[in-house]
This record gives sequence, structure tokens and C-alpha cells, in this order.
Amino acid sequence: MSILSSVFVVHSMSFKWKTSFTFLLCMFLIFSVSAQKKVAISMDDIPNTKKYEKDDFQLGLLSKLDSIQIPISIFVIEGLIYKTDSISKNFSLLMEWTERPYTTLGNHSFNHNRSSEFTVEQLEQEVLKGEGISRELARYYGKDLKYFRFPFNDLGKDSLQQNAFKAQLKSLGYEIMPFTVESADWMYNAVYEHYLEQEDRSRTVAIGEAYVSQTLALFEFFEALSLEEYGRLIPQIYLCHDNSINEAYLPTIIEELSDRGYEFVGVEEALADPIYHQTNYYDKKWGVSWFYRWMEDQDEAMVWMRKEPSLESIQKQFDAIQN
Ligand SMILES: [Zn+2]
Repeated sequence: MSILSSVFVVHSMSFKWKTSFTFLLCMFLIFSVSAQKKVAISMDDIPNTKKYEKDDFQLGLLSKLDSIQIPISIFVIEGLIYKTDSISKNFSLLMEWTERPYTTLGNHSFNHNRSSEFTVEQLEQEVLKGEGISRELARYYGKDLKYFRFPFNDLGKDSLQQNAFKAQLKSLGYEIMPFTVESADWMYNAVYEHYLEQEDRSRTVAIGEAYVSQTLALFEFFEALSLEEYGRLIPQIYLCHDNSINEAYLPTIIEELSDRGYEFVGVEEALADPIYHQTNYYDKKWGVSWFYRWMEDQDEAMVWMRKEPSLESIQKQFDAIQN
């Protein structure tokens, strides 16, 4: 039944029936909208070898995810394996992430530099060096390795460079991995770890809770944007990182999203939506949501961006600890 015909039916009913019918109709609409909510969780900068060493080689976030068992797409920076002295342990850590049946494997380059500074050849080197071990692991665990996520989601400084990079990635067998929602978890994490080190329990918890509410507010914001732009809720792709704040608070975010009617899907399912195959009109190097990249009128994108839930408070705290 269309919304218009439902309104007509309600209009022609007696008051008593009208009230109960309206109630049922509302429940139906709420249910049908919430039943459509889907999100794929993607996680960058795997494996966090510095944290691994600091935590006395505990699996941390990974063991939390083991208890949740939802699809997670991971984006590996192989260069991180060589950032501490425990190279063989770091290699095993990457194996742990790869062998989990719920993870999908992706390449996030070797050194995590801005691609707008690269030539096409340099990007190719970063990609190929970045898959040295992952390609073998993928084969061993029977997984694909076909997604590339640009560090900082810097797809290139202009449309010429972006098109050249995209073509080069395609020839290497890669698709660019987009995202729709992110909540600056890296910034919350920096402040969170700062207070953790100071053993300031109440401030640590406050930052964790602020991260959860900011993330949920952003989901609401992008749901509204999705409804306005496409008249429906598209499957979201959430971007976050392998870090301390997610070890402590990602399970809460997942629970809250589940309570709000979200179903957790793999990236392949999200990317199967034709929405993800639209033209990218954004030709700058900044890491903005794909919702904005798909807007032909980039002035409209700017209007939406200014309406995003503010990061001012965490930005101030982040700036303060940097000094
Ligand atoms: Zn990254």
C-alpha cells in the first residue's frame, strides 16, 4: 500500500478505527524503514603493532570482535609490521586478523602516505609493496584481495590524477573502497589514550561516551541525508580504526546500532547497491564521505557538510594535547 492511498483510507474511517489504524500504519512504516537499515563496518590501519607491543601482545580489539561475530572488512598497512622489533609476532598478528572467517581483506598501501603527492608509478609501488604478505595470506585462507582504500581517503589532487589512479588500480585488480560514515575516531582515540596514560578514569570514560554519541549522531545525520537524496536508506559503510577507543567502545556502538534496527552486512553486500556505482564529482584530495562525492552540485555538498554534527569540542581537546 502506498503512503498516499493509506492516507486516503485513514481519512474515510470512523474515529475509533482511524486511531488504531493510524497506530498500526505508523508501526508498519517504522518497521519497514528500520528493517532496511544496513551497515558494513570497515577498519583501517591493521595491524596496530605499536599497541600490540604495549599491551604485552594481547589481541585486544580482535578478541572483542571474536565475541561479536559480525562481518568486518580490514585494511592492512603492511609497513606497520616493521614498526616495532617484534616482526615475527607482528606477522602472526596479521595472520590472526586474516584467518578470522568474518574478516574481508583489503590493501591500505605500504607506508600510508598521501597519494596526491604520488605519480601513478609511485602509487603502483605502494600498492604492490602493500600486498606482499597479504596476497599470500589471502590465498592461504581462500580469501579475495580486491579492495584498496586510499590512506586519508586522498584519491588524488584533481580529476586527472584521480582518473589515472583509478585506472591503474583497476589494472592491478583493485576496486576503490568507499565509506559513508566516519566519526573522527582517530582524534577521539588520541585524546582517549592521553587520558588513559594519565590514569584519569573519569575523563577517559567521558571521551569514550562522547565518541559513541558523536558516531550515533552521524549515523542519524547520514540517514537523513540518504532519505533526502535517494528517498531510502542506503547501506552505510562505517570507517573506523584498530585503536584503543574502538577496543573499549566499538562493541557499544554496534549494540546501539543494532537497537536502532541496523543489520550488519559485509562490504560486498553494501557495494552491490547501485548507489555505490555513481559518478564521483569530488576532485579534491580531502577524505570526505562518498555521499558528498556523489553530489553533482558540489555547493550542495558544502551545505550538507556544514550541517554535520560538530567536532569542535574534541578538536579543541585534541589541539590542546598536541601542544
Ligand atoms: Zn589509514
